[in-house]
Amino acid sequence: MQLSDKSLLRSQCYIDGAWTNADSGKSFAVTNPATGEELATVPDMGAAETRRAIEAADKAWPAWRRKTAKERAVILRRWFDLMMENQDDLAVLMTAEQGKPLAEAKGEVAYAASFIEWFAEEGKRVYGETIPTYATDKRVLVTKEPIGVCAAITPWNFPAAMITRKCGPALAAGCTMVLKPAEQTPLSALALAELAERAGVPKGVFSVITGDSKAIGGELTGNPIVRKLTFTGSTEVGKLLMKQCAGTIKKLSLELGGNAPFIVFDDADLDAAVTGAMASKYRNTGQTCVCANRIYVQDKVYDAFAAKLADKVKDLVVGDGLKGKTDQGPLIDMHAVEKVEEHIADAVGKGAKVVVGGSRHELGGTYFQPTLLTGVNPQMKVAREETFGPLAPLFRFEREEEAVQAANDTEFGLASYFYSRDMGRIWRVAEGLEYGIVGINTGIISTEVAPFGGVKESGLGREGSKYGIEDYLEVKYLCMGDV
Ligand code: ADP
Repeated sequence: MQLSDKSLLRSQCYIDGAWTNADSGKSFAVTNPATGEELATVPDMGAAETRRAIEAADKAWPAWRRKTAKERAVILRRWFDLMMENQDDLAVLMTAEQGKPLAEAKGEVAYAASFIEWFAEEGKRVYGETIPTYATDKRVLVTKEPIGVCAAITPWNFPAAMITRKCGPALAAGCTMVLKPAEQTPLSALALAELAERAGVPKGVFSVITGDSKAIGGELTGNPIVRKLTFTGSTEVGKLLMKQCAGTIKKLSLELGGNAPFIVFDDADLDAAVTGAMASKYRNTGQTCVCANRIYVQDKVYDAFAAKLADKVKDLVVGDGLKGKTDQGPLIDMHAVEKVEEHIADAVGKGAKVVVGGSRHELGGTYFQPTLLTGVNPQMKVAREETFGPLAPLFRFEREEEAVQAANDTEFGLASYFYSRDMGRIWRVAEGLEYGIVGINTGIISTEVAPFGGVKESGLGREGSKYGIEDYLEVKYLCMGDV
């Protein structure tokens, strides 16, 4: 791993403005999923260090919230600029610890930075309101205030963006934050902390802790100082954290699993639909919560779509993201490989046909062949569970209502996609899909300017856009009598 600024590779945590080791002195290794090589070690912290970070965030909060939004924005803007100036190094670090192709990592760094820039500006527009009164001797006003100390727990699939879309709005709103990144990808998080320090984020406002997820999570969810938890990860862990937060009634933002449907109607532009499906399915080796998980294709165009998609899937270049042109890196770990294998075996056992791929890649390790299955039906595991890997299963349908019903037949409700050129159908289907996000004639929906989030068991709250900052604000009602 070649960094032009080696000080971005940190092997200590950042607590209360100081680079810190675990109390126990213990650390754990971060490895490159493409090679198995050890990249660095980071501290193995637990509840005691977490408590200190929370207390530091509490201590830092009054001065941070008292700053004007513009003063906070100036600091956040510097943080954004530093991320962009160090885009190449941050991307190398990310590819090394996460495995995504370098071009995707560069894209993620820019995407991650965009949340800091966006919310630095949005913080200036946290407007209150006056409400026409209910009594002539009263005035009714509404102000918005930062919630307070926030805790964030983030996943490995977007090692930078899942952090900034939480700390961007939190810090801009005047909250402080303690972050626990995923154990697989702490290096991106620590590099962001290094840049936050250089940007002038005051000590205690943003701390990063690595280590035992249960112990750290227990403190973050149990400590009464923490007023809000924001989490991106699996629905299973999200439910657990929600329970743990019940004891102190914390506010919650949860970005959980998806099971995204991708519907291709017979009036669609098939080439555009193939391009969209490729982008949605195979980005990050299929490891995003908005990746198309179930592809429904209308009977009349099923075979043509399958053939066009197969041609593109065959062309995907699999390899180490740090070594030359690559479309698809390794999966994050063996557990992920086994899940893709399990879904393929289950589908094939129930009659699906492997059109492309289907097995582990000859590169070994956690590399997997980009895979396309046809003849998939609702009885197969791929219909119910998020594969989180490079597997595109094609379901056949005949009627529009049948597709919408199948798409909604899941406990999840994050992203959905469909391709059609019929205006009547576009409105019907867009309104019929029980999802927080609907991509219409596009497979890419993520941007800092739009609200990202799910319904049903996919979560609570929205990230990005003007709505994203509301999740870090409390509404205060002032009722003023005459004096
Ligand atoms: P994934 O399956 O994508 O790894 P997880 O939900 O397991 O998703 O992980 C997302 C984040 O949640 C990671 O930072 C992980 O360390 C953290 N995590 C996992 N289990 C717990 C837990 N019991 N308490 C707190 N955090 C947890």
